[in-house]
Amino acid sequence: MTAPTKPPHRSPARPDVDSTATDLHSPVIDWFDENARDLPWRRPEAGAWGVMVSEFMLQQTPVSRVLPVYEQWIARWPRPADLAAEAPGEAVRAWGRLGYPRRALRLHGAAVAITERHGGDVPSAHAQLLALPGVGEYTAAAVASFAYGQRHAVLDTNVRRVFARAVTGVRYPPNATTAAERKLARTLLPEDEPTAARWAAASMELGALVCTAKNETCARCPISAQCAWRLAGKPEHDGPPRRGQTYAGTDRQVRGKLLAVLREAHTPVPQAALERVWHEPVQRARALDGLVADGLVEPLPGGLYRLPLT
Ligand code: SF4
Repeated sequence: MTAPTKPPHRSPARPDVDSTATDLHSPVIDWFDENARDLPWRRPEAGAWGVMVSEFMLQQTPVSRVLPVYEQWIARWPRPADLAAEAPGEAVRAWGRLGYPRRALRLHGAAVAITERHGGDVPSAHAQLLALPGVGEYTAAAVASFAYGQRHAVLDTNVRRVFARAVTGVRYPPNATTAAERKLARTLLPEDEPTAARWAAASMELGALVCTAKNETCARCPISAQCAWRLAGKPEHDGPPRRGQTYAGTDRQVRGKLLAVLREAHTPVPQAALERVWHEPVQRARALDGLVADGLVEPLPGGLYRLPLT
């Protein structure tokens, strides 16, 4: 029996990246100057703390859902020390329905570290940002770039999609960020700091507003004349299947329902009240155990539960 033949791998375009980079900067930055959304974390008064809060919230949640929670959060905790003085459970409560609530605990942890190690000011050095709990490469680069105007490759899903299309010539980036994408992002960075910071914000906004995952509007795109994917005739995606974002019926949904009960309650909740939110006992118990293991829920004697106080 002969082994099935593997389809030939189609190599992406290999553009001259240096000249591509300089060709892209001005149109994208000029477009951004005209079209950037007026978002509260982009205003000068947001400061580095506002940028950091927004970056935690925006990691897996769209802008429209983040906006009201961000506004309430900043009004209540205008400085890291204000949040650090609260119980972590209050951060989980205020996180509301943004999803992936471990981000709330991490943001609280970062606020505590900023207060203890940095006198309450969000540090500007990339290495110090990266050393904060819950701050990974992306968030450190985003805060250093957006809040402090530094030169860093800021590689979120929107930027990765724009680079995949405009430069590499494929419809979608890989499922997880690769070393090749990081290298490309560094190569594309403008040399001077202010332009690099502008480029980071502008390329992200282009992916959010024009070159979106579902619908690229090339007619409105400032780099359509240079876009490798468009010029190649928009070849179909031929990489591994893309990850779906199912929610209904998952443990994530059950965790969300359990947390919603605890967020609404200001006194400890009996287990029976939690049992009412989901019909399937094995999945419900697994979700509750997961919340406890993640530190999002604190079990108390007598079968009671609450958001964490410490
Ligand atoms: S031309 Fe179209 S596909 Fe290319 S970057 Fe612009 S919007 Fe995206």
